[in-house]
Amino acid sequence: MLLLMLLVTAASAHMIHMKNGGEHDLICRACGKTITQGTFVTKKSDQMSSPSTIDYDYEMAVGGTNTTIHVFTNPAGERFHVLNALDANVRLNTDPTDDATWYPGYTWVITTCSHCGAHMGWYFESREDRTKVFHGIVLDKVISGEYCDSLIRIPGGKP
Ligand SMILES: [Zn+2]
Repeated sequence: MLLLMLLVTAASAHMIHMKNGGEHDLICRACGKTITQGTFVTKKSDQMSSPSTIDYDYEMAVGGTNTTIHVFTNPAGERFHVLNALDANVRLNTDPTDDATWYPGYTWVITTCSHCGAHMGWYFESREDRTKVFHGIVLDKVISGEYCDSLIRIPGGKP
């Protein structure tokens, strides 16, 4: 718990929008920085319908929010399970492009962890309405704070 608290405290120093959410944080698997929180995960009811570019989709609770995960394959043949979120603590790295975009009408840029630079996913922006934006976060690049907490609990100790 102490380790998690230290991680969360360190992460919060750089965060403008995000409060310390603890168990509902989604944390960079590589360095432990908070990438987003359950409250920013796009609710299934608010999510755009799955684009025709997906391989398939499935429903999942992430950080306490029920959402739809979109599964895509890129032109290089790599498959990604993508979580949609309204905000994320990431760096935008490339110029926007709509080359081979997974969300028709949206441009994308590559995003990386703002702390360690690990690839996190993509930032999508509507060509028609630049206020319509969201993050696509690769599910296996993040772990939940709740899971992290369970890893450092002392066996047989008090929770
Ligand atoms: Zn990181």
